[in-house]
Amino acid sequence: MRARQLRAWILARGAETLDEMTDLPKTLRQRLGEAFVPLASRVVRHQHASDDTHKLVVELVDGKLVECVLIQDEGRRTACISTQVGCGMGCVFCASGLNGVERNLSVGEMVEQLVRLRNLAGPSGRSRSRLADEVDRLTHIVVMGMGEPLANLDHLLEALAIATSKQGLGIGARHVTISTVGLPAKIRRLADLRKQFHLAVSLHAPNDELRTRIVPTNDKTGLTDILAAADYFFERTGRQVTYEYVLLAGLNDEAHHACELTALLRGKRAHVNLIPFNDVEGLPYRRPSAESLQTFVFVLQRGGISVKVRKRKGSQIDAACGQLRRSVLPDPG
Ligand code: SAH
Repeated sequence: MRARQLRAWILARGAETLDEMTDLPKTLRQRLGEAFVPLASRVVRHQHASDDTHKLVVELVDGKLVECVLIQDEGRRTACISTQVGCGMGCVFCASGLNGVERNLSVGEMVEQLVRLRNLAGPSGRSRSRLADEVDRLTHIVVMGMGEPLANLDHLLEALAIATSKQGLGIGARHVTISTVGLPAKIRRLADLRKQFHLAVSLHAPNDELRTRIVPTNDKTGLTDILAAADYFFERTGRQVTYEYVLLAGLNDEAHHACELTALLRGKRAHVNLIPFNDVEGLPYRRPSAESLQTFVFVLQRGGISVKVRKRKGSQIDAACGQLRRSVLPDPG
């Protein structure tokens, strides 16, 4: 019973300290406090943008830092979480992989990011108690923070089991998106679990030569295997796959790339999510012009491909796609 109460306080009711758990006997809280803390990580930086995006820099028990983001939009409260400290994939345009990968996150470290973000959810400036029945639930999870989720799949699945259970955070599995650089064997494994999770594959180029330049791990995998694994995911789960495509000016954003992409995806139940490059300090890439973006969209649409341009949230606080990095120093203030 006590375990159930504790779980409810942390996962459902937003308590961050034992003192807040007022229906546990004081002596028990004291004893628990000698050995445990409800949340083991520490928020070392909290930034809040005017579009109501929050970014947290979280310090883990071993001193490593990860970032996570809460994106709020039209009644949606989406948590974007990290799965690794750093990233080993080395995509040339992404901040998260600049210094390689240090380690996988534990199940608890992922759940804590969700809990912390959920505890911040709601309109800014609203004066309310963080506790009890008033906490707003998260509506969506995107596993698009730092790290390659499928490289830490076992822990991720356990964390998502807690996130999607009624006794946990109660988020529908259909509202969880896992974004991957494209690891075919892991995509197949995920497909065989037949969960309702949504899969997003970071494509970024319509042919192997260009993709290997932008996404170095493509050298070992190749587009054919990735697309076959994604098709298999669709067959097994019935869930349409999203292909992410970051647009880098002059590199992969021209009309002929869009034509080639259309041909590659023709006949698939696929959706393309275009992400105009978000600036990363020290990297030489640029956003596409409005005209090339428009042309790219037009070519895909004309080819019968479903396409959207990802809304840009949180860029003011470097919280947009690809801007999460390992080497952030906590704000001295
Ligand atoms: N490792 C996962 C999650 C990455 S973040 C993956 O590779 O899918 C989610 C998306 O943002 C990915 O498609 C990633 O390639 C993209 N992204 C990374 N850096 C970016 C940047 N600077 N601008 C725009 N999108 C970026």
